[in-house]
Amino acid sequence: MAIHPSLTSSWLDEFPARIAALDQSHLRRHRRVVQPESGARLLVDGQSMLAFCSNDYLGLATHPALVEAACDSAHRFGVGSASSPLVSGHSSANETLEHALAAFVDLPRALYFYAGYATNIGIIPALVGSGDAIFSDALNHACLIDGARLSRAQIHRYAHSDLAALDAALAQSPARRKLVISDAVFSMDGDIADVPALLALCERHDALLLIDDAHGFGVLGPQGRGSLAHFGLSGAQASPRVLYMATLGKAAGVAGAFVAGSDALVEWLLQKTRSYIFATAAPALLASALHASLQLIAKDEWRRVHLQKLIARLRQGLATGLKGSTWQLGASRTAIQPLLIGRNDEALAAMEGLRERGLWVPASRPPTVPEGTARLRIALSAAHTEADIDQLVHALSELAAACRPATAAARDALLNWR
Ligand SMILES: *Cc1c(COP(=O)(O)O)cnc(C)c1O
Repeated sequence: MAIHPSLTSSWLDEFPARIAALDQSHLRRHRRVVQPESGARLLVDGQSMLAFCSNDYLGLATHPALVEAACDSAHRFGVGSASSPLVSGHSSANETLEHALAAFVDLPRALYFYAGYATNIGIIPALVGSGDAIFSDALNHACLIDGARLSRAQIHRYAHSDLAALDAALAQSPARRKLVISDAVFSMDGDIADVPALLALCERHDALLLIDDAHGFGVLGPQGRGSLAHFGLSGAQASPRVLYMATLGKAAGVAGAFVAGSDALVEWLLQKTRSYIFATAAPALLASALHASLQLIAKDEWRRVHLQKLIARLRQGLATGLKGSTWQLGASRTAIQPLLIGRNDEALAAMEGLRERGLWVPASRPPTVPEGTARLRIALSAAHTEADIDQLVHALSELAAACRPATAAARDALLNWR
């Protein structure tokens, strides 16, 4: 019997070495087992920690009203949805939620998905394809990038928030169908896109604008109605050239996502989005929990007020606490507060130092963030108390003071990271 060549040397044998290489460059991720405790505390691998890593910005993920709505719904609808929404249909809970979502963001129509990642990788190829052009902010979320690649349209990546570069790229493109894609609140930096300016460029160049509001929905705008409402671009001011996408596993505290816009656009997406058509519908119990969540988001203004107070407290505290350190707090006004450290190993050491003090703040490293901008991604939530913030500020100030000075080159790179 002949020995197959793969038995002597197979690429499959390289995986242990490839994993070891991740270890060596401090890029290997370790997954913890976590369980919510009270407030913003998490049981992390059995140890109680004060967590600053959650996108549950309003503290709704464990709210009893949501839990109860999910349980009631499970009793009525069961736990599984059993098929694609276009094969056997979707539940009345899902149908009701779509109407509630459209009304909440004040746009004509909404389509509810089981996940945000699946939404973006599906809707972009449904909108544009080969011969068309996509214009993408350099700091866009991975699923916008992946959706753009899947579409086979030509991708023009413009420098973060560089409207002049975007204008020039749009003007130069001969494509008839142009799609501009952008996060509304950038997920690693926390800054807010200038949506009105993006829309003005799209109008000038007959482009469609897709806005991903994963981190603005529930938090920005009157009653948390999102980034379009924040900029006065919903309701009577809504533009048919804007497609609004938001996720429901962050401030809304549950899971899933939706896309909203003109009736024609949403109908087209329902017909053509492969990640919608060829996937099992979201279970009704999630839609029911989300319905309860929307009511709390609109009603509980105190959650947003409290969150804003915490953001201001953290920024003030660190402005003093980090004096003389090379660590840089990003210019964010949102719940995402990036603390740039620079090197992967130093960001990991900072994370470890916090962990020893019972604080859980994740280090974000390349490829999630640009090379040389490893950081602590501090995420605040209405579930935090002022004392929680003070504890974090105190620990970070100590760690920054103890961190040996970076090389001049590393410090310059960090100061010029934009
Ligand atoms: C989290 C996130 C997503 C993905 O949403 P999921 O529902 O978690 O799949 C999409 N876009 C942005 C900007 C995000 O931060």
